[in-house]
Amino acid sequence: MYAVEAEDVSKRYGDVIAVDGVSLTVDRDMLYAIMGPNGSGKSTLLSMIATVNRPSGGVIRVMGHDVVGETDEVRRLINYIPEFNFSSQHLTGLENLVFYAALLGIPRSEARDIAQELLRRVGLNEAANRLVSTYSRGMRRRLELATAFLGDRPLIILDEPSGGLDPSMRRVVMGWLLEEVRERDRTILLATHIGEDAEAADRVAFMKDGRIVAEGHPEELKRRYIRESIIDVKLAVKGLKALELLRGFAINGRVMETDEGYRVFVEEPERAMPRIIERLNASGYRVLEINASTPTLEDAFFKMTGSPLG
Ligand code: ADP
Ligand code: MG
Repeated sequence: MYAVEAEDVSKRYGDVIAVDGVSLTVDRDMLYAIMGPNGSGKSTLLSMIATVNRPSGGVIRVMGHDVVGETDEVRRLINYIPEFNFSSQHLTGLENLVFYAALLGIPRSEARDIAQELLRRVGLNEAANRLVSTYSRGMRRRLELATAFLGDRPLIILDEPSGGLDPSMRRVVMGWLLEEVRERDRTILLATHIGEDAEAADRVAFMKDGRIVAEGHPEELKRRYIRESIIDVKLAVKGLKALELLRGFAINGRVMETDEGYRVFVEEPERAMPRIIERLNASGYRVLEINASTPTLEDAFFKMTGSPLG
């Protein structure tokens, strides 16, 4: 039996088709990531799996139970963390966790100990008795992630789990999620618009315009869509002229803008690199760094869909 099974699921809001004929299966005991840019329909899809939103068409089953016909059964199997902050600012971190523990039917006598243990796991033990209004965005997100682990639910659904976290904390959080899957036999289904979050997943679905356009293990997806090499160019100052020049070196003009420069998809990086430096210098651009690099899931998404993730 699958943890989640969706068949031809869609959701319409008036003229907007937020989810458009999605079919997917999520095996038990795995970390499954739905990855796509903002507006691709990830949150809508997760909210339907989590029974807080009804499909306009299609069928979704969670551990064999229909999300519409057997809503109560499904709710007992899942713990759903929505995209936007939901913890109370007027309570402390500990009080928030004790409150959610009560909602999940955890006895009062046990709730405090369980909550304290979870706060330790997410590194908030020292902030346990502070009001959430004094927390940073990242602390608040970690507190909310801790609520996902309350109640030992077999399926955890996380919408943008790393929202508000810095890159190093994001990696720590992905480590916790993997640990839950590997050591506590849980299934985690998450949605993210950050490619790096999906790198650790057992399976990844690329979502765009309400559809799942590709699916597989991260390495498999990269191999499938990226045959060429990538050159990362960091410039002191970016510019339109540099972009145009780099497009001339790239296969089909494929160049992606990054924070500090550009990623260029080329056939032969060793041949292209010195010529790129020469041409950029001649046009007055200062190259801070240039490297051939290994492709990421974000690159695979860009190659497959023709549009960037961010
Ligand atoms: P993502 O989570 O990938 O950013 P969403 O599921 O939030 O995507 O949104 C997908 C599309 O559906 C967007 O075009 C969004 O504007 C639209 N949408 C989402 N929720 C609603 C709603 N409640 N009413 C109308 N349109 C919505
Ligand atoms: Mg979303």
